[in-house]
Amino acid sequence: MSDESKAMKTGQLGDITINRILELDGPFVRPLDFFDAALPEAVAPHRHWLEPKALDPKTGMLMMPVQSYLLRTRHHIILIDTCIGCRKTYDDVVPQWKDLRDETWLRNLSSAGVGPSDIDYVFCTHLHVDHCGWNTRLVDGRWTPTFPNAKYILAKDEYAACEARDTAVFHENVAPIMEAGQAVLVDTDYALDDEVWLTPAPGHTPGHVAVNFASQGRSAVMTGDLIHSPIQLAHPEWHVKFDHDPALAAKTRRHFLDSHCETDILVLTAHFPSPSVGHVVPHAERAFDFDYIPPGADAL
Ligand SMILES: [Zn+2]
Repeated sequence: MSDESKAMKTGQLGDITINRILELDGPFVRPLDFFDAALPEAVAPHRHWLEPKALDPKTGMLMMPVQSYLLRTRHHIILIDTCIGCRKTYDDVVPQWKDLRDETWLRNLSSAGVGPSDIDYVFCTHLHVDHCGWNTRLVDGRWTPTFPNAKYILAKDEYAACEARDTAVFHENVAPIMEAGQAVLVDTDYALDDEVWLTPAPGHTPGHVAVNFASQGRSAVMTGDLIHSPIQLAHPEWHVKFDHDPALAAKTRRHFLDSHCETDILVLTAHFPSPSVGHVVPHAERAFDFDYIPPGADAL
């Protein structure tokens, strides 16, 4: 790992220390396989600003990390989203995510100075495969909560929708948390305290939330999948193929971009290319732009 990428993985927001915990990074999917509207002629006018950081010129694929954010507040150690995980049987979305055996994510968590038993709260922005996988791990043939001392904060609507889908995601990542008594089902505007709270961001999934946090007069938000790629800064109306409610997802995204543009709220994305964190800013030709934090910035 370069010194530059190491430096970008830790930051400070007031009293809160933030770490990005990466599981995967690199070229992920062709735009048209992800967005119905991303025909080659629709993407072409944007290649010059997307390449090479957000769109890999060699493969033509969007660069999309899979990652969590670790927060250390004065009171709590908090994980936001838990990536894909290991030995999961799900293969309906991304076949290569089935039965992964690479525990890099756990090692990256421990490199940040935190072990599984240190986590107080796990927030899931939503219950898709790449956001709740490390909720559990396979121990002696049983799916067991990875974080034995954590409460898992899940939106009620999201839990209900996941339970109704009745897939491996529910049985392997979610039900064992409930059975262990570690799930806390909350409304989509739940506040943990005056530093960490949720806001509803529905559309991608029914109970999708953004996780907000603030300290010493500074604010930040982790978006989950209310936006996936910088290409949606030019086309907020472009929805991903697997949005639960595409029109609502687009409305949520547009509202988010409008309400965060030209503010000092730090935006932590799930899947924008590394360093994934920055500010939404206006742009003369396209709807919005994203001002990534500079390498090594103490503001993350
Ligand atoms: Zn995702």
